[in-house]
Amino acid sequence: MIESNVDGQAHWKSALMDNYGTPQLTLVRGEGALVWDADGKSYVDLVGGIATNALGQAHPAVVKAVSEQIAKFGHVSNLYVNPVAVELAEALVDVASLAGNAKVLFVNSGAEANEAALKISRLTGRTKIIAFDGAFHGRTMGALTLTGQPGKRDPFKPLVPGVTHLPFGDVDALKAAVDTETAAVIIEPILGEGGVIPAPDGFLQAARDITKDNGALLILDEVQTGIGRLGTWFAFQQAGIVPDVFTLAKGLGGGLPLGATIGVGAAADLMKPGHHGTTFGGNPVCCAAGLAVIKTIIKDDLLDHVSALGKDIAARAEQLPFVAGVRGAGLLIGIGLRKPVSATVAQAMQEAGYLVNPIQPDTIRLAPPLTLSAEQADGFLDALETTTKDL
Ligand SMILES: *Cc1c(COP(=O)(O)O)cnc(C)c1O
Repeated sequence: MIESNVDGQAHWKSALMDNYGTPQLTLVRGEGALVWDADGKSYVDLVGGIATNALGQAHPAVVKAVSEQIAKFGHVSNLYVNPVAVELAEALVDVASLAGNAKVLFVNSGAEANEAALKISRLTGRTKIIAFDGAFHGRTMGALTLTGQPGKRDPFKPLVPGVTHLPFGDVDALKAAVDTETAAVIIEPILGEGGVIPAPDGFLQAARDITKDNGALLILDEVQTGIGRLGTWFAFQQAGIVPDVFTLAKGLGGGLPLGATIGVGAAADLMKPGHHGTTFGGNPVCCAAGLAVIKTIIKDDLLDHVSALGKDIAARAEQLPFVAGVRGAGLLIGIGLRKPVSATVAQAMQEAGYLVNPIQPDTIRLAPPLTLSAEQADGFLDALETTTKDL
């Protein structure tokens, strides 16, 4: 039994591999946007399980859906139709306004969703892929190849051949690089792990035109931006385009591991029997959670809430003297600091009872539950003002 945060660190160190380093806090329970640590201290959690807990912790709709499903069955495999996965697939293409024109492949994580997208691109008969510097697409070998962060890639070379990285948002470079041998261009609409950096205005539209002109697929990695995070179901709806493939995970399962690769139009039919599979893909319990997330976002008007609250937080944060600028959309927010002291700020905020993510030395990332209240946001901004006053 772990009895305290210090105790948690000791047990973690001896039992778990060191790939994450040892965390400071042991979290033992949560409710909505609140979490409690092993010393009994509570926090407003603006990390949100890294953008996964769309409805916060222990949301009644998720608890009910998951409990009812596990009592029926936990897993059946893809040798049988699993009604919950079908219902979730239909709901997803529906909220994407793509009913009848898109098909879903369920996987278990963001990296796997991008692996499947990469495999779909091979089925075009072409092998050239364009990705972007600073982007994050996951840690498995294919997804890692797409990831535009050399520090994460270099220890694991050789990677998958055929992938070229361009400067993020550079339309001219994209125009020059894409030709009729290009299988796909993959874009993260807002670099999340890269520090909450939105694509420049017009970039997604230009990428849509360039890929279409060359018969290449446009793949959008919406693992972090999807499922209401930006105040729309998906980032591509804000850009007014439709990709050929888009990938989801993080918020989709409401805290359970669930990913999806969604093909649109002809790209929905490239996968044939035997081309791909994953044992747990479309797991009924995870899909029941996903359905609860989508139904609750609709029922509680959370897209409007996310847009309005995101704007309020950005407007107030921008007024703080230590804040250099605010980036992002909805409740995916990057707060730029005037000095590279995000770790110090995050530590002070933790002591004040707020969990935030120092994603870059000069940037704090917020990806709280979509259900964060205005009062919780106000408390966070008050604490941020206090903790950055003397920096
Ligand atoms: C987190 C993330 C991934 C990887 O997801 P995992 O579930 O960790 O494999 C891929 N793409 C983006 C944009 C992400 O934010």
